[in-house]
Amino acid sequence: MSSRSFAVTGVRVFDGDAVIERATVLVDGETITGVAAAADVTGREVVDGAGATLIPGLIDCHAHPTGDALALAMLFGVTTEIDMFTTPERLGTQRERAAKHNDLADIRSASTGATVLGGHPSMLIGLSFREQFPVVTGEEDAAQFVRDRIAEGADFIKLLIDDGTAGGHPSPTLTGAMAKAVVAEAHRHGLMAVAHATSAANAVEAVQAGADGLAHVFMDQPPTPEVIAVIKEAGIFVIPTLVTMGSMAGDLTGAAVAEDERARRYIPEDWRGNLCQCWQFGSPSSLANAQRATAALHEAGVPILAGTDAADVGVLGTAHGASLHQELAQLVECGLSPIEALAAATSRAASAWRLDDRGRIAPGLQADLVLIDGDPTTDITDSLSIRAVWRRGELLERTPKETA
Ligand SMILES: [Zn+2]
Repeated sequence: MSSRSFAVTGVRVFDGDAVIERATVLVDGETITGVAAAADVTGREVVDGAGATLIPGLIDCHAHPTGDALALAMLFGVTTEIDMFTTPERLGTQRERAAKHNDLADIRSASTGATVLGGHPSMLIGLSFREQFPVVTGEEDAAQFVRDRIAEGADFIKLLIDDGTAGGHPSPTLTGAMAKAVVAEAHRHGLMAVAHATSAANAVEAVQAGADGLAHVFMDQPPTPEVIAVIKEAGIFVIPTLVTMGSMAGDLTGAAVAEDERARRYIPEDWRGNLCQCWQFGSPSSLANAQRATAALHEAGVPILAGTDAADVGVLGTAHGASLHQELAQLVECGLSPIEALAAATSRAASAWRLDDRGRIAPGLQADLVLIDGDPTTDITDSLSIRAVWRRGELLERTPKETA
């Protein structure tokens, strides 16, 4: 890899936590080496940051990268994806490619999540999964399930607690004892356990099992003070994935981003089609419930992280990268300030996933950067106005698909 040395000058910086109105950011090789009001830029390539905002590379805290997903994510400034369920074969391929190529987002993964035979996401066998994945069959094999995932290279453990309430049809799921055994074994190995739950009752069960975070917000009912208090007192984070909750509940939000000229040029046709369709499960769920729950959790001080649940073409309502911008706008609608929404996809995300080398703009950290026209710290809809993306200090060649 060629060595790079550049400066972004006269730019507004969102460093992951706060805004610096005008600064120069220095990068040497893969690393940020300076953030200052003014700096000597002799001998460096200079990127004029006038009228723009430099933010840390975005982290999608809930995705399922397969195929071209990590390349698509990068086009939208998403430099890391947290993979919430995959197969070991896919994980190996995606991880190996991401390690080699700076035009692909980096990946952290749960490998295969803990569920039961026929439990969520078994309905995706034949669509996202070619064959049956390993499952937990009882309390006694839960610990071995976790050890197998760790042997496959899981960075954290995922468990799925979903009795089908939110989707409107009953589904087998982990018992409380099985969920507790999964979480306990993850913790024994120093790993986090993050739970899928889409109903309020399942979210409470996830908390009772000891989960460190929720991979969705619940949407089967409006929030009650009791449920919000249970989540708050557990001290855990929540990744609402409102774009996917909307798709599942039949409240499509993806079409707006698919039609936005700033995004449209970079989205392949198959992914565009994906953004413009949704699941419309018959259910008691609604995007409004999910939004109200997100607002109540945020109001209570629960850390909110940005994630999309973007998966494959055919898993409707999302596209890698583009949907994260839609999620940021949704989070602002739920009462987060634009700065809080950006932190949910940068510094706060990095802290939650223990990624000490990224998520902020500070000397010594990896130069994952996004240069955005305008000011997304005051108007979140500016986040799609991407001028440039760097991963590990390397500028992405960002070519609209028409001319690719
Ligand atoms: Zn997911």
